[in-house]
Amino acid sequence: MASELEPEVQAIDRSLLECSAEEIAGKWLQATDLTRELYQHLAHYVPKIYCRGPNPFPQKEDMLAQHVLLGPMEWYLCGEDPAFGFPKLEQANKPSHLCGRVFKVGEPTYSCRDCAVDPTCVLCMECFLGSIHRDHRYRMTTSGGGGFCDCGDTEAWKEGPYCQKHELNTSEIEEEEDPLVHLSEDVIARTYNIFAIMFRYAVEILIWEKESELPEDLEMVEKSDTYYCMLFNDEVHTYEQVIYTLQKAVNCTQKEAIGFATTVDRDGRRSVRYGDFQYCEQAKSVIVRNTSRQTKPLKVQVMHSSIVAHQNFGLKLLSWLGSIIGYSDGLRRILCQVGLQEGPDGENSSLVDRLMLSDSKLWKGARSVYHQLFMSSLLMDLKYKKLFAVRFAKNYQQLQRDFMEDDHERAVSVTALSVQFFTAPTLARMLITEENLMSIIIKTFMDHLRHRDAQGRFQFERYTALQAFKFRRVQSLILDLKYVLISKPTEWSDELRQKFLEGFDAFLELLKCMQGMDPITRQVGQHIEMEPEWEAAFTLQMKLTHVISMMQDWCASDEKVLIEAYKKCLAVLMQCHGGYTDGEQPITLSICGHSVETIRYCVSQEKVSIHLPVSRLLAGLHVLLSKSEVAYKFPELLPLSELSPPMLIEHPLRCLVLCAQVHAGMWRRNGFSLVNQIYYYHNVKCRREMFDKDVVMLQTGVSMMDPNHFLMIMLSRFELYQIFSTPDYGKRFSSEITHKDVVQQNNTLIEEMLYLIIMLVGERFSPGVGQVNATDEIKREIIHQLSIKPMAHSELVKSLPEDENKETGMESVIEAVAHFKKPGLTGRGMYELKPECAKEFNLYFYHFSRAEQSKAEEAQRKLKRQNREDTALPPPVLPPFCPLFASLVNILQSDVMLCIMGTILQWAVEHNGYAWSESMLQRVLHLIGMALQEEKQHLENVTEEHVVTFTFTQKISKPGEAPKNSPSILAMLETLQNAPYLEVHKDMIRWILKTFNAVKKMRESSPTSPVAETEGTIMEETSRDKDKAERKRKAEIARLRREKIMAQMSEMQRHFIDENKELFQQTLELDASTSAVLDNSPVASDMTLTALGPAQTQVPEQRQFVTCILCQEEQEVKVESRAMVLAAFVQRSTVLSKNRSKFIQDPEKYDPLFMHPDLSCGTHTSSCGHIMHAHCWQRYFDSVQAKEQRRQQRLRLHTSYDVENGEFLCPLCECLSNTVIPLLLPPRNIFNKLNFSDQPNLTQWIRTISQQIKALQFLRKEESTPNNASTKNSENVDELQLPEGFRPDFRPKNPYSESIKEMLTTFGTATYKVGLKVHPNEEDPRVPIMCWGSCAYTIQSIERILSDEDKPLFGPLPCRLDDCLRSLTRFAAAHWTVASVSVVQGHFCKLFASLVPNDSHEELPCILDIDMFHLLVALVLAFPALQCQDFSGISLGTGDLHIFHLVTMAHIIQILLTSCTEENGMDQENPTCEEESAVLALYKTLHRYTGSALKEIPSGWHLWRSVRAGIMPFLKCSALFFHYLNGVPSPPDIQVPGTSHFEHLCNYLSLPNNLICLFQENSEIMNSLIESWCRNSEVKRYLEGERDAIRYPRESNKLINLPEDYSSLINQASNFSCPKSGGDKSRAPTLCLVCGSLLCSQSYCCQTELEGEDVGACTAHTYSCGSGVGIFLRVRECQVLFLAGKTKGCFYSPPYLDDYGETDQGLRRGNPLHLCKERFKKIQKLWHQHSVTEEIGHAQEANQTLVGIDWQHL
Ligand SMILES: [Zn+2]
Ligand SMILES: [Zn+2]
Ligand SMILES: [Zn+2]
Ligand SMILES: [Zn+2]
Ligand SMILES: [Zn+2]
Ligand SMILES: [Zn+2]
Ligand SMILES: [Zn+2]
Repeated sequence: MASELEPEVQAIDRSLLECSAEEIAGKWLQATDLTRELYQHLAHYVPKIYCRGPNPFPQKEDMLAQHVLLGPMEWYLCGEDPAFGFPKLEQANKPSHLCGRVFKVGEPTYSCRDCAVDPTCVLCMECFLGSIHRDHRYRMTTSGGGGFCDCGDTEAWKEGPYCQKHELNTSEIEEEEDPLVHLSEDVIARTYNIFAIMFRYAVEILIWEKESELPEDLEMVEKSDTYYCMLFNDEVHTYEQVIYTLQKAVNCTQKEAIGFATTVDRDGRRSVRYGDFQYCEQAKSVIVRNTSRQTKPLKVQVMHSSIVAHQNFGLKLLSWLGSIIGYSDGLRRILCQVGLQEGPDGENSSLVDRLMLSDSKLWKGARSVYHQLFMSSLLMDLKYKKLFAVRFAKNYQQLQRDFMEDDHERAVSVTALSVQFFTAPTLARMLITEENLMSIIIKTFMDHLRHRDAQGRFQFERYTALQAFKFRRVQSLILDLKYVLISKPTEWSDELRQKFLEGFDAFLELLKCMQGMDPITRQVGQHIEMEPEWEAAFTLQMKLTHVISMMQDWCASDEKVLIEAYKKCLAVLMQCHGGYTDGEQPITLSICGHSVETIRYCVSQEKVSIHLPVSRLLAGLHVLLSKSEVAYKFPELLPLSELSPPMLIEHPLRCLVLCAQVHAGMWRRNGFSLVNQIYYYHNVKCRREMFDKDVVMLQTGVSMMDPNHFLMIMLSRFELYQIFSTPDYGKRFSSEITHKDVVQQNNTLIEEMLYLIIMLVGERFSPGVGQVNATDEIKREIIHQLSIKPMAHSELVKSLPEDENKETGMESVIEAVAHFKKPGLTGRGMYELKPECAKEFNLYFYHFSRAEQSKAEEAQRKLKRQNREDTALPPPVLPPFCPLFASLVNILQSDVMLCIMGTILQWAVEHNGYAWSESMLQRVLHLIGMALQEEKQHLENVTEEHVVTFTFTQKISKPGEAPKNSPSILAMLETLQNAPYLEVHKDMIRWILKTFNAVKKMRESSPTSPVAETEGTIMEETSRDKDKAERKRKAEIARLRREKIMAQMSEMQRHFIDENKELFQQTLELDASTSAVLDNSPVASDMTLTALGPAQTQVPEQRQFVTCILCQEEQEVKVESRAMVLAAFVQRSTVLSKNRSKFIQDPEKYDPLFMHPDLSCGTHTSSCGHIMHAHCWQRYFDSVQAKEQRRQQRLRLHTSYDVENGEFLCPLCECLSNTVIPLLLPPRNIFNKLNFSDQPNLTQWIRTISQQIKALQFLRKEESTPNNASTKNSENVDELQLPEGFRPDFRPKNPYSESIKEMLTTFGTATYKVGLKVHPNEEDPRVPIMCWGSCAYTIQSIERILSDEDKPLFGPLPCRLDDCLRSLTRFAAAHWTVASVSVVQGHFCKLFASLVPNDSHEELPCILDIDMFHLLVALVLAFPALQCQDFSGISLGTGDLHIFHLVTMAHIIQILLTSCTEENGMDQENPTCEEESAVLALYKTLHRYTGSALKEIPSGWHLWRSVRAGIMPFLKCSALFFHYLNGVPSPPDIQVPGTSHFEHLCNYLSLPNNLICLFQENSEIMNSLIESWCRNSEVKRYLEGERDAIRYPRESNKLINLPEDYSSLINQASNFSCPKSGGDKSRAPTLCLVCGSLLCSQSYCCQTELEGEDVGACTAHTYSCGSGVGIFLRVRECQVLFLAGKTKGCFYSPPYLDDYGETDQGLRRGNPLHLCKERFKKIQKLWHQHSVTEEIGHAQEANQTLVGIDWQHL
């Protein structure tokens, strides 16, 4: 490494430093041939500065370039010191009012949905915040890089084009002012000179293609012999391939290779070797050889270093130009002039042209630099933007051709600049009229899609990979076309008309190539062998959808254009079909005395295509003719006579019949491709220009022809003609049972045909078809969507078609039809249909899918039942048709229609065989209903001079004619009304009959007897109705109840915690509270409850019975019985950590005995509270393990739990667990030998214990001295004065059953293994410490949660928590019985020594560095190991009490030492209470012992306050601890919320209310102890300010504060660059919600090695910040990420919601997002509760795909 570095650190050439910019500039001013002079200068110096070694040295190069090359140019340009010159220029400048800020990757951009001309018009954050749009409806996105802020562009905004900042200058600016007037002649001339030469130099050197030869005028005399092996970027090879190849080719480390690969990916090229030609050539050949196997090889060039040097400077120069023109708009204009000036070679010889035309040959870095320059120059100057646009348009075809060959993404292609010109309305218009842009784009597009079939249609079948690639690229042309059309002209000139129509011609040519493409033939007999390609055609259709719509919009805005376009479209359609006969046989159809000529054609036998864009465009234009009334104003201009309705309808009808047949199952053998096509045909993305227009085309046809003729043709195409034309055919047909399938098929076809007729008559909500406006249309869509179910905003948006501006028009009407329901803590806001809109519901709405239709039907009927209405869903009242379509309604009363209806009703009446279906009947009823509604409206709107020609009621009353004499339709309906098998349709039939009577009544305008008669029947009916309704209602209630019970049952069987977490929690809490009351009732009368010590309240032992969830057996918890266990999860935790920079370095050597008060890493235990027999659990776990092993062998899949690490899921609730805790009775009661003799006071006790410790240590020493014989040993023991009653050789008998002992070891080992991350070793002396630690840490974390939520300490705790704490505490207390007594004694001695010093322990932490609660727990739980050998009569309780008092006093001293009360002169003169004077006295003692290092404080008031506040958490934790340890019920006072329970706590814990009394009572020993604590050097260092210490109370950790507005987070992240790859923008910036670090996630650059594996930045961060658990916000995605360990993770819903109460994961919708505090609190709660891992487990169980994600790479 060192040897490589050396040549780089060469001394800088002195001659370079001696250059004087001023002198050189002076020389240039004198020069006669400036170009030559400059070139010589560059030729000489550039290679001296750039490319001097294998690695670039950007700072040095930039510094020298500025000094030697750019500096002189600046001097020359200014004619003086640029330090003065440029500010002068800047001052004289009248800056442009365009913002033009170029967006960085990931920067937030804003678009106003109300005012932006199109969605590509965006603002930067600063401009947005200063604009009027911040109060409008806006959309926010993150930029993909490139593009700039449109603030100040008056064409981009309908309103408010300027923000506050850019508005300032507008008033002064004259529209056409020339910016050059602000510059002096001299400056103009010099700028012109220098710009012209330098811009040309940069362009020439960048597009220079020779590898070892420089342009003639740059060649040097002495040329070095150094080369670079230059590696170029491509989009073919992966990162891994490149890294692997480089390691081989240039023999570098993986790290270096990653560095190279990253730079190549970013800049487009990077030299990977430096040296002589041979050396570089060698590397090149290895790279080429290694990467050419499957694909084309990586591009590598061996380039002479001086060429690379000049190119690097060329790039520098372009950036320099970009910054220089920032000083003055005048300079910018000169640069534009220079760039666009035509060179000597004429056309395409300007510098701008040359750059553009070389674009695809340049590497990525060069492209982005010059694109940036174009954006800051040409696009910022309105005059030159226009000229540039013209150049761009002229070169358009060539640029697109280059782009097709280019293997870079479009974002780095110059073609991507199209959006900058084409979306500007005036520019686009100019380019259309002057450059014929529309035609050019379409023709270029056609040129690239050359693959055609025999009829000249596009063919995508058997596309090669290259063609597919091209096809993807060519789609960007459609985007360009869309840009050009996006703003519709308000005024038309003749040129515009002409050029638009020329473009329209070209467009029709394009559509013609699509008309009839991908034809299909029904497969009979065999299934198709290969699914045909269909996606390409649909992609094209989908991309063109908006363009087609916009073409129609353009046509609609000018009558002349509309008429011409209509003519052209019709002509092309006629060409397409060459008449309609297609050489097919003519036939004649006749029914009911009507006959029509048509052709013989069967969809099921011949070719048919779904693609009919020409027909559909014509349908669209026809509707526009109707809407704009052009058809009535200028009928003579229209070729209406040329229209042949049968020809118009033929192909759309075939397409609709195809759908029907597919639905009837006739095309099953054609595979999924057809199913998919039919799906998209109806889908919201395509239907507007597909299905919808086919319906319109049929409507058009019907309105122009005899409906009887239409119906006959339709019957024929549906292949149903026979059935309805020969009356007996149907009967005969149905009797033949063998044809069951065919009958079914025909039934479906009849249903489909009836559905189509319903659509043709009922779908009149497009403006132009019916007399409606656009609002009515969208309203109707929304009503029908919400009829299915209530929906969230985004769901609704998805179901509605978007226009080219991504708008659905929904917001303007939603209020009118729906109520908004706000979201809760989960879920999203919902829209519900207003009840009054239900009457507009149409069961046969044409955009319903079949599933939606049946869901909507069910929902609407249910609603009606709830409102106790009848369940008929009659057709809604419809708006009238426009005149052009008016005759369409006659189809309902046509003879053929009546014949069809009659036939079907007849079938229903006869009710035999399969030849009819209920849905068929339902549709007929619907059609009859529609006809009645129609007639009713006709009658209502009738004017005197008009005769109502719609006489449906009369027609259906007439019986059939001879010879059949069939009954009338009405009569059949009356018959059917009583048919028992039609129960479901009765309400509908009744509604029809009622309506019929009403219409009849209207017709016979005066009331007559027959009407009265009908009224009578109606009355009768209603009473009958009521009766029936009541019965129905009761049945309904019963049904609902049944349903509810069923639902509850199935709910219970599901994973109930997942589904119903909160409910679950509540019931648990309820359980807990009731059980708590029971617990307390016997002792509640006892006022004083004491949790510990000799005075401990004795509770009668309660027998505890539990049930095993696995075998359902009940068992009592007893010492000697089989063990019962709780599923538990142990994890390391940093939730309470006050120092995240600290983590366990070497777990094998780490000593956990003393917990530091920063709580930097603890071990947390949780449990779901489910109890099992130990042996049942063991069996369950073994089977899980076996199953997992088998599965892994088979599938190699991951699971949500890691069996190898002992993880499993609770068999009941599937909660992640990794061990079990045994259930125990209060363990102290077993060992507490009752003794009523006098107990020692604290001083005596400490002395006794010290003696015992001393004895033990003596013995220990004896044991470890190797040469001692055992006899001698015993002698020594005799010599030793053993304290009275102390029997160190005594070993107590373990009272527990084998099974319990085994579980004690199991859980202990698990805690040790997880807590320290080491291999399990049950013998390790640290096992008991870890058990105590986990108990202490878990209690502390629960105390924190309760305090943070202001909950009482002993309030109702969820029982899983209660059980967990109880078991954990008792386990920790019992664990010593399975550990070695001497080991535990050793721990006790050491712990004890930290407070009561003795000689054998020296290196103990000072009291500032001990967490006192951990110390308390460990001392109390280790004490029995010593006490069991003590037969002097001291009880365990006495020991507990003294330990507790001692630790409490140490904690008080700790608090006082760190309190540092800031004296603020608060009234200290007040009479002080007892506590205050006591604490002041104590403080003075401390002051003395610390050698006056402690600050003097005159008042006890503050001191007492800080002691009280500081000690509270400790007291609360201690209360919990002793409560669970000894089983003493909690005092009722602490069970309720309240401000402070200080006194109650003291009483419960056997402490004096004045804590300082403890010191006074034991002053004898305490003074010496305090002195020893204060003497510690660490305490001194702290008091002298040399180190820090934790203060009390410790504040709760919170997740970081998040901003209210999400965009400020995006902005913050967009400024964040990857910390490892020098200023590069991070692609996936991710925020740690725990500590606020921003990380560069999911990227190679920031991978690090962790335990021998490469992991991403997030995973690495979790190890230091959260000991393996992490909570992150992925800023670009707006997604919360939970990580646990290397293999576990899930995404969680983010705490940001839009105004509709929805999250936007992935920021796809771009609605403004705001912080939802409640949801953020919920995340924080998950963290505080240590539930993140559990949450991940549940998420992974619910969604298996999460398991497969490589979380460690994030
Ligand atoms: Zn801006
Ligand atoms: Zn602005
Ligand atoms: Zn706006
Ligand atoms: Zn069991
Ligand atoms: Zn469970
Ligand atoms: Zn990075
Ligand atoms: Zn962090």
